[in-house]
Amino acid sequence: MKLVFDHIDFTIVGHLQGLMEAEGIKTEIRNLGGSSAAGELPFTQVYPEIWVLNNGDEARAKAIVKDYRSAADAERPGPDWTCPVCKELVEGVFSECWNCGAPAP
Ligand SMILES: [Zn+2]
Repeated sequence: MKLVFDHIDFTIVGHLQGLMEAEGIKTEIRNLGGSSAAGELPFTQVYPEIWVLNNGDEARAKAIVKDYRSAADAERPGPDWTCPVCKELVEGVFSECWNCGAPAP
């Protein structure tokens, strides 16, 4: 078995496990409900973890994690921008100027 991912947020761990299972990769999640077991585990191991059962799937599983991370990065809003028309500073989440409606440059 190989550990391929761990994260404090179980929803992300569960999402990635679903992606791996959809690719036919057998996985197991450890440390579910970590806080209840915290007394028996070192503090560094209480995050939920995804393990692949077959070591041969490790590379594919890690590729899925990498794809997920780059997609998550892409969803992050861009930097704030200055409207070329009215010179307002507009937050990166907006694709149009909130003040005059001009599109982002
Ligand atoms: Zn504007």
